[in-house]
Amino acid sequence: MAATFHSGERIDPSIIEGRAPHIARLLLDRVQATPAAEAFRYRADGDWISLDWQQTADAVERLAAGLIALGVRPGQRVALASGTRIEWILADLAILMAGAATTTVYPTTHAEEMAYILADSGSVVVFAEDHDQLAKLHLHRNSLPAVTTVILLDGTADGDWVIGLDEVRELGAVLLRQRPGAVMERVAGIQAQDLATLIYTSGTTGRPKGVRLRHSALTYEAATVAAVGELSAADLQYLWLPLAHVFGNLLIMLPLQIGFATAVDGSIENIMPNLAVVRPTWMGAVPRIFEKVYAGVTGAIAAEGWAKRQLFGWAVRVGGHVARVRRNGQDVSSVLAGQYAIADRLVLSKVRARFGGRLRFLSSGSAPLDPKIAEWFAAIGIPVLEGYGLTETSAASLCNRLDRYVFGTVGTPFPGTEVRLAEDGEILLRGPGVMEGYHNQPEATAAVLGPDGWLATGDIGEFDEHGYLRITDRKKDLFKTSGGKYVAPAAVESAFRALCPYIGNIAVFGAGRNYATALITLDRDAITRWAAEHELADRSYAELARQPEVRELVQGYLDLLNERLNRWETVKRFVLLDREFTIADGELTPSLKLRRRVVGERHAELIDAMYA
Ligand code: AMP
Repeated sequence: MAATFHSGERIDPSIIEGRAPHIARLLLDRVQATPAAEAFRYRADGDWISLDWQQTADAVERLAAGLIALGVRPGQRVALASGTRIEWILADLAILMAGAATTTVYPTTHAEEMAYILADSGSVVVFAEDHDQLAKLHLHRNSLPAVTTVILLDGTADGDWVIGLDEVRELGAVLLRQRPGAVMERVAGIQAQDLATLIYTSGTTGRPKGVRLRHSALTYEAATVAAVGELSAADLQYLWLPLAHVFGNLLIMLPLQIGFATAVDGSIENIMPNLAVVRPTWMGAVPRIFEKVYAGVTGAIAAEGWAKRQLFGWAVRVGGHVARVRRNGQDVSSVLAGQYAIADRLVLSKVRARFGGRLRFLSSGSAPLDPKIAEWFAAIGIPVLEGYGLTETSAASLCNRLDRYVFGTVGTPFPGTEVRLAEDGEILLRGPGVMEGYHNQPEATAAVLGPDGWLATGDIGEFDEHGYLRITDRKKDLFKTSGGKYVAPAAVESAFRALCPYIGNIAVFGAGRNYATALITLDRDAITRWAAEHELADRSYAELARQPEVRELVQGYLDLLNERLNRWETVKRFVLLDREFTIADGELTPSLKLRRRVVGERHAELIDAMYA
């Protein structure tokens, strides 16, 4: 059996063993410790408004009481369908304080999938961000008998099924006047083993699975990340990541655990302008954001004159050299230090100033980060610590540390988590952060979670000689875009084959890229018939594949497919191949299943061109 790796850190075990049993306790402990410290900062009418921990807890308690007044009982699920904003955070904590559990839904989730998630989770109340979310709910209201109330964050509520957030607060205030202990009674009943959050994650065949995360798993995650000591109460977090994802969830838990303040704005467009104003010291993000920033800065430099480009290139090389020397624990020579001082003053500090100038480091997770980009950030003086984990492990299980970093790896385990490789290289994880199981899916749970507590991740990896884990491949038929979102290619492909009668096959790609694309082959008989009806009878297969009318035909069906998919799964570009996939070429198995990997390798140039 391969070696099992634990964290190499010496930490005080009581930090993890003595952690808060549940999230309500985590919040109450935080308020007691630092009631007047800034907790959250959010934008309203152009200004940044601050809440301290006491104000946060008061708002949460009122909202929790409102949920109790609406009839939410302990253990029931309440869903949040919204972008990242302060109301999400308050509502999430309120749901937990009321003894209930949160189900999360991305604002970009398709109506049908949203309805599935709400029904599968048995959610009784839904917080809906705006009329767009509400429209999706109305569309499927008939299949949501369990949902008694929708709470609308923005816009006017219509009073029947839907009420406004202010009304819930008012209901809460009334209940607290009558029974001041209403919420605390609920808190007293919460157990560490209780369900805190149901987060839906993609299944390979289409339907998402609800990952059941206990309170104790989420408080472990917060405690172990805190224990490695990279973050402190003096930090200021900038939070934009989707809170429907487990990474976002961790970014709410950490401030409760550690006590730092968080500025919240879910808009991706606002990230760069806000960073300059908020001047945070830390931010979590997905690779896509690092790619964008890198492309933005290097693109702007490329448009400059020769001298500026040379200076920039030199400064980044010097910065990279210094970062490397420091990472290796060596001393920076006086010559190099001198060069660095100039490079930093003329170039690097100015790049950092675009991010507010105070960032100590950034964290990346959810999908692989290109080591080139990680090195570039290190060179300009903002290390990006890459981590790895799954929804099923309550977010990160391993991470690089500021003083222990290897580019292209996901670092070493967090204290309390064990990592081992199965014989075929599959990464297995065990620890207090591992899920209870998939909601209502014992078979799917048994397929990945053994009785001994080891979770099979579906990712393939290897350890380097110092125990840093490198993700090398994947076993599961799912890939991630650089935005960190799962795409189930087989599900998208079969949906398209069912929809479009003119195609022979489709292979979907996009791992590590910022959107999905496809290689499509035509069905010879069907397209020949269609051609005969459209005055193209004499064309060969290859000629038809190049014919604009045929492309338009396929595009029409692709548009229909895309309408049904979640936004992040949509196929943005495609190539019509001039020949069909065959068994002889190894592109199909003898049972006619698509060998996506072979197809991808054979047509790598065509695929690359769709991202040019
Ligand atoms: P999720 O449940 O959405 O967090 O997705 C978990 C999956 O994301 C893992 O099983 C990996 O396939 C992938 N993943 C997360 N972090 C990384 C990383 N740093 N490098 C490569 N893949 C990653």
